[in-house]
Amino acid sequence: MTRNNHWRSWLRAVPQATTFFGLATIALIWGAVEFDLNAEYRRSQASAFQSTANLARLFEDQIVRTIKSNDRILKSLQVSSVDGTLLPDFNRWAREIDGAGDFTAVLGLINADGILVATSYGPLREQLDVSDREYFQVHRDSNEAKLFISEPIVNRVTNTPLIQLTRALRTPHGEFAGVIVASLSASKLVAFYESVDLGPDGAISLTGLDGIIRASAGLHGNMVGRTMAGSELLRRVRTSDSGTYVSPGIVDGITRLISYRLVEGFPLAVWVGRAENEVFGTYWSNLYSYRSIASGLTLCVLIVVILNIRHRRGLERAREELRASEANAREKSRELELTLDHMSQGIMMIDKDANVALMNRQAVDLLGLPEDMIAQRPKFGDVVAYQRRGGEFGPGGRATDRDLHPSIGAALSTPVLSSYERTRPNGVVLEVRSVDLPDGGFVRTFTDISERKRNEKKIAHMAHHDALTGLANRVLLHGKIEIALERQQQWENEGFALLLLDLDRFKPVNDTFGHAAGDELLRCVAQRLAACVRDIDTVARLGGDEFAILQAATTERESLEALARRVIDVVSAPYMLDGHPATVGASVGIARSADCPQVAQLFHNADLALYRVKSEGRNGFRLFEPEMDAAAQARRRTEEELRQALDRGEFEIFYQPMFNLAAGKVSGVEALLRWNHPARGRIAPDQFMSIAEEIGLMSKIDDWVLKTACAQAARWPGEIVIAVNLSPAIFARASLVDSVRAALAAAALPARRLELEISERIMLQEESSTLAHLRALRDLGVRVALDDFGVAHSSLSDLRVFSFDKIKIDRSFVSEMEISQESAAIVAAIADLGRIFGAVTTAEGVETQRQAELVRAAGCTEAQGYLYSRPVPAAEIRALLHEAGARMMVA
Ligand code: C2E
Ligand code: CA
Ligand code: CA
Repeated sequence: MTRNNHWRSWLRAVPQATTFFGLATIALIWGAVEFDLNAEYRRSQASAFQSTANLARLFEDQIVRTIKSNDRILKSLQVSSVDGTLLPDFNRWAREIDGAGDFTAVLGLINADGILVATSYGPLREQLDVSDREYFQVHRDSNEAKLFISEPIVNRVTNTPLIQLTRALRTPHGEFAGVIVASLSASKLVAFYESVDLGPDGAISLTGLDGIIRASAGLHGNMVGRTMAGSELLRRVRTSDSGTYVSPGIVDGITRLISYRLVEGFPLAVWVGRAENEVFGTYWSNLYSYRSIASGLTLCVLIVVILNIRHRRGLERAREELRASEANAREKSRELELTLDHMSQGIMMIDKDANVALMNRQAVDLLGLPEDMIAQRPKFGDVVAYQRRGGEFGPGGRATDRDLHPSIGAALSTPVLSSYERTRPNGVVLEVRSVDLPDGGFVRTFTDISERKRNEKKIAHMAHHDALTGLANRVLLHGKIEIALERQQQWENEGFALLLLDLDRFKPVNDTFGHAAGDELLRCVAQRLAACVRDIDTVARLGGDEFAILQAATTERESLEALARRVIDVVSAPYMLDGHPATVGASVGIARSADCPQVAQLFHNADLALYRVKSEGRNGFRLFEPEMDAAAQARRRTEEELRQALDRGEFEIFYQPMFNLAAGKVSGVEALLRWNHPARGRIAPDQFMSIAEEIGLMSKIDDWVLKTACAQAARWPGEIVIAVNLSPAIFARASLVDSVRAALAAAALPARRLELEISERIMLQEESSTLAHLRALRDLGVRVALDDFGVAHSSLSDLRVFSFDKIKIDRSFVSEMEISQESAAIVAAIADLGRIFGAVTTAEGVETQRQAELVRAAGCTEAQGYLYSRPVPAAEIRALLHEAGARMMVA
């Protein structure tokens, strides 16, 4: 949740009754407290003002009475002065005052010259001049007879503060006659004021309108004579005779509630003040405690409110989450609906009461249910009943589907998944899957698997049949053989046979006419084979040009052979491919089930028989015989030994010289391979080369011969040419020319001294690389001979395509020359060809003098054979070459 949301959620939770109630309670508490405090404040204030006002009035009264009583004395003495009875009257009053004990301290009489002439204290010791006093000057200089009230002054006799009330005296003629003084004791006033309890910091003051304090109490220190100029009091008395106010004391700074009064008839004011601290002491302590309590209560209420808000917020959030999850659920359910309606499967949910709680469109379509039935939310039983009436479950209406799912109503701990397939009357294959729900209902899906079934059938067929011919393939054949083997174990007379059939010369046909034609031929072969077997037999194509026939329930040799013969006959009959006639042959190997209980064994045996046919010249058949197995095993052993022969150094090269007939001397030597087998002794190439070729060893062997022969020939005298035979295998190798160049380089043998004999078979291969190799070898400078010319029926055009340096006429022609005119003619013709193409012609296999004469007569340029020398080991050939001259005599 972001910070913002956090606060927003809090804010949302605020407005609620409890919050308002809480806030109202807080307001109420504070209202009551403040109201009460306010009332208390007013009460305290009012009572303070009242008491001070009362006191102020009291003091006013008191001071007025004091002044007035003194003034009466002064006034009567004024009269006495005019009457001339001043002194006796003065003395009478003086005595009276002395005993009065009020605020009047002393009575004084001052003459016109300002000399104090009499006091209530009695006669003065020395003359005292008071003409400097303010009152004196005021009275002397004015004609008014008003009462004068002095500032507090210090009595020059008693040294105490006095407030002097004075009046002027007149002679009967109205002349200034002096001043009569009644002094009030400021100290006594102060003492009186101090006797009043105004509480701590309460104060009383009698102040002149001139601002000078005449008497005071409660103010700190002796305030008499000090000025209050600038005080609130002086401002107030100007406008109103009496009043109240609150002000900090101008002298001591203490705030007081003050009541003041102007002293009526005199320029004086009285004020009485009570300290604010004292007046409001209770109020303030109440204020503190009330507010503390109110704060405490507020806190409590707030806590309750906040807790409530928090709670509400929690609720709010839970509600929001609920809303979100509801929205999510709605979305999910919408998605689900969409999914259900757009899924390719039909789906039906049946609740524990066997009601169809949910069914999508596909289910309706796949089951072919009527619309109105769906609208009514049917019972599952109704659906099944409807289907049964429609023949869904077969003609008898026998339900393969269970009328009621067994799990309905029965709560299962673990859901059970069941599935079956059924074909609807309209041919649609449905896969029905049911999953039991834990609460007792179940969910059922319907999938149209018609297409899948068709595909499966197709795939099953493809898996068991050959795509090209439609015959059974190896897999199906194996299966059938397995079944046949089982039957054979159960029934005495159930022996059968496996015929393996290999087309002969199929490759040339394929190469000549193209693959399409080759395929066509294979299809024809398949048809012909299928036509010559019984229904119970199986014809299979195993791949390429290999076929097989399972001949069921047949054990007699005669019928096996008859079928083999028939097969060879039909396959060998000519074919028309694209308007061209073509023929192939067939080799057949037969194995009987009686000899072997296993499929693999049966195949193996038939293979051996077939192999035998092939090695014996093809286009025939053979029945498996145990002896073949032994031969096969021997061959396998040979293969193994051959693989190791090179490493073990068991190969050796023999050399046979070739004689130039015209020059009568050795022109070259042919390298011929020998295998010195540790047990079987020296083995000729014919015995192992075909095996080496089959197991892919030949090019390696050729390489070795090439290197070894070159190395040995390099040590021979003169310009003797070394001829090395190359197999088709090495000739097919891309690196052939490199190998030759490497061998020459390693032996430091000039290229012109190397002759490579390639068999006519290579020319038959029609590989494009053949000619390229031949030319590359020629460019290298080596000589190239065409070996065994005449046997493989190579076309004469080969001689045109590449001009060979030498043609070697096959031994078979030479050996027959003596008895066959034809062979002699062929040898002569080849010799002629050689002359035409500028090639040397070598007659191979010259054994007798007579043959030597015939080949010479036929025009051959060279001869090779036992007559001159058998192939001999390397050491011997060197000796032979050295005495070549002697040998020539034989020729
Ligand atoms: P080829 O190239 O035609 O070699 C001549 C064969 O005739 C040799 O047989 C030789 O011993 C034999 N021969 C020579 N003069 C006479 C004679 O007067 N009378 C009779 N009856 N035979 C004679 P060999 O050595 O058994 O070789 C057989 C074939 O094996 C060779 O036929 C050649 O095709 C192949 N071969 C031999 N050595 C090699 C080799 O190193 N590499 C390859 N690729 N093939 C080789
Ligand atoms: Ca040869
Ligand atoms: Ca040869």
